[in-house]
Amino acid sequence: MHLSLYIHYPFCLQKCLYCAFNSCVDAPCSADQYVAGLLREMTLRAGMPQKGSATVTLYFGGGTPSLLEPRQVARIIAAAAQCYSLAADAEITLECNPGTVTGEKLAAFRAAGVNRLSLGVQSFDDALLERLGRVHSAEQALAAFAAARGAGFDNIGIDLIHSLPGQTLGQWQRELERACALRPEHLSVYGLAVEEGTPFAELEEAGKLSLPDEDVAADMYEKSAEILGANGYEQYEIANFARPGCRSRHNSGYWQRRPFLGFGAGAHSFLRAPGDGIRFSNADRVEDYLRLLADDSLPTGESRTLSPAEAMAESLFLGLRLAEGVALEHFQKEFSVSFQEVFGSACADLFAAGLLELRHGFLRLTAKGRILSNQVFVRFL
Ligand code: SF4
Repeated sequence: MHLSLYIHYPFCLQKCLYCAFNSCVDAPCSADQYVAGLLREMTLRAGMPQKGSATVTLYFGGGTPSLLEPRQVARIIAAAAQCYSLAADAEITLECNPGTVTGEKLAAFRAAGVNRLSLGVQSFDDALLERLGRVHSAEQALAAFAAARGAGFDNIGIDLIHSLPGQTLGQWQRELERACALRPEHLSVYGLAVEEGTPFAELEEAGKLSLPDEDVAADMYEKSAEILGANGYEQYEIANFARPGCRSRHNSGYWQRRPFLGFGAGAHSFLRAPGDGIRFSNADRVEDYLRLLADDSLPTGESRTLSPAEAMAESLFLGLRLAEGVALEHFQKEFSVSFQEVFGSACADLFAAGLLELRHGFLRLTAKGRILSNQVFVRFL
């Protein structure tokens, strides 16, 4: 049984204007106190995964985990090895924001055991970065990438966002070309989503956010596949592209419904259980998270056992994100019922509209289906 671990570090230097993640600027504790909480939680949950499971990926996300000191990252990796049988060849990723690292710090992360970086570039255009409320500049992003290579990282992912306020298709094309010129191993390209409760949502409500329309956003998405494909990147998931052999093993686990444990304020977990699995999440507020741990209690906030119908829906809308799609034989084996019996009639029009296709026993999204994926996924809910 393979297990993945996620470590959430919820603190940032500045809150980006579009951000709906569980992150904050004013930390109510020191980084050392938070890390002590993480280590306590890792110890308390050590018995949860099935016996014999080995940890194949460890992911530091946030927030801005590159604000951690390398010695703190090393302690967390040591705890993962001690409590969760961290495999010798485990993928260990750290999300890293430009402007928070130096070459020296990156070399120390590498020495601590981090072997993959996910660099939150988002844009190479300073005006757009400012519009997003990002704390860094394009020059800092380029410097961070060069420093990471210099520190010995040979597995680096870059995150970019398209459909930004005022962004044109030509600008987006240049962003992709600049990213490709760096030759990262992995690229994630997300369309901007305006989330409730963010400053961007308020601006949109007030009519002050000028976003590209749906057609331009779809063109940007198509342009990503075209340019990245021409530069040797395989599109293995709706928003993710990789050079051969460089897919994110950690994120692939989410789409394949492999078990994972999340540690930290607001972190989510999924464990397979007899039946159809259990999903749970930690208390969102750092204060609540640390208080529960100080009482030797698990910091679990919400917990839900999935019904068979929910598990089937999940396996489809997560699996369909992947280019290879969902193996229907595997689906039938897992749920003792065929896809056609459960969803056949509900999906007939999706096949007719050219959004879904069946190839060699795999159900998958077509190119058009990838653009309109949300319309497909709601059918399974
Ligand atoms: S750096 Fe990431 S987590 Fe922090 S505020 Fe910006 S988008 Fe949110």
